[in-house]
Order: sequence, then C-alpha cells, then structure tokens
Amino acid sequence: MPPKYVTTVRQLIYWEYAKLIARAAVFENNYGFIVSRYKKLLSGEMTWSSSVRDYEKEMEKGRICVYCGATTGLSIDHIIPASRAGVDPRIVKLLNSTDNCALACRKCNSSKGDRDVFEWYGPDRVAEIPKLVLSKFLKLAYSLHETQGTLDLKDPNMDGVLDIYDLGVVITHLITKMSGKTQSSPASESPRRKRG
Ligand SMILES: [Zn+2]
Repeated sequence: MPPKYVTTVRQLIYWEYAKLIARAAVFENNYGFIVSRYKKLLSGEMTWSSSVRDYEKEMEKGRICVYCGATTGLSIDHIIPASRAGVDPRIVKLLNSTDNCALACRKCNSSKGDRDVFEWYGPDRVAEIPKLVLSKFLKLAYSLHETQGTLDLKDPNMDGVLDIYDLGVVITHLITKMSGKTQSSPASESPRRKRG
C-alpha cells in the first residue's frame, strides 16, 4: 500500500514510478530513496516524460516477448486492453497507439487476455512485472487519466481504496460495465473510500 499522503491517481502514478526508479537503481527497499524520487516527480524537479524516455531506451531489448523473453510466435500485446477503450475517440486512439503496445509471445498474450498487467500478475507477483512494461503502463495510465480528466480522482474503480487497480481504469468502459449504476457519477469522490 502507498503511504497515506498518496491520495489521487496522479500521486499514485508518481509513487509507483518512484518505486520503479528505485527498483532499477537497486534501491528497491530503500524507502527514503523512493520518497525523495516521489517528491521530485511531484514538484516537477524531476520530469516525468524525459526520465521515462531515457529509461525505456535503456530497457528495449529487441524482438523478444517482454513478459517471458520468448523469441518466437510474437505479436502485439495491448498493455491496457484495447477492448476497454469505450466510446471516447481520444481513448480509442490512445489505447491503439504504440504507447500501449508491447511484443508478447502467443502464450503470454492469451494468458493475459482481457486484463491489464497489474490484473494479470495479481497482488502477489507485482514485483515480477518487467520494468519496461511497468514503465510503459505508468506513462500510459498518466495519459489515459489526463485525457479523461481523472488524474485527481481518489478511487476511479470505486472499490473503496486507491491502489494499482485504479490506474488502468477507463471511466466510460467502467460505466458501461456497471450498467444500472450509471446514475452515480464516477467523477465525484467515492463516499465508500476507506483505508486500512
Ligand atoms: Zn511470453
């Protein structure tokens, strides 16, 4: 769980990215390092886009499955399922852009199915998500929430907590999925939100 001062989608993306930087720098368990990177991202002292770009360049490994390293049977995997795009043409465009694409083997692609990377790996295996995928996911999640105006939401999937499962949420898709609950606006703060 992120610290309790991390309360919005924007802050959670920065927090997860700070953890990723720590992981890449082998400071994985250095809480102070993570907090300092988080603060730099939040204040703008460290730029999100430039640091991501450098990092991704370093991580590109050519034509292999980003998840398991297989070299055959490769196809394009959508990090956040394109089927989730809903009706907003800006979101459709974003989820079909190269920012959302990674190379994956047939086995990984079909195992992942209609889930985003966090949903696929599950809570116990988050630390095993390849750094390149995580980096792309966080960058994409930022664009997604920026586009739909939800960067400052506190619980987009309305399950009562802000966590990594809130990052890949496409609001229009969620509303369609929760038909019957379409009256309550997801743009307002969830009253059910609680922290342990
Ligand atoms: Zn694979």
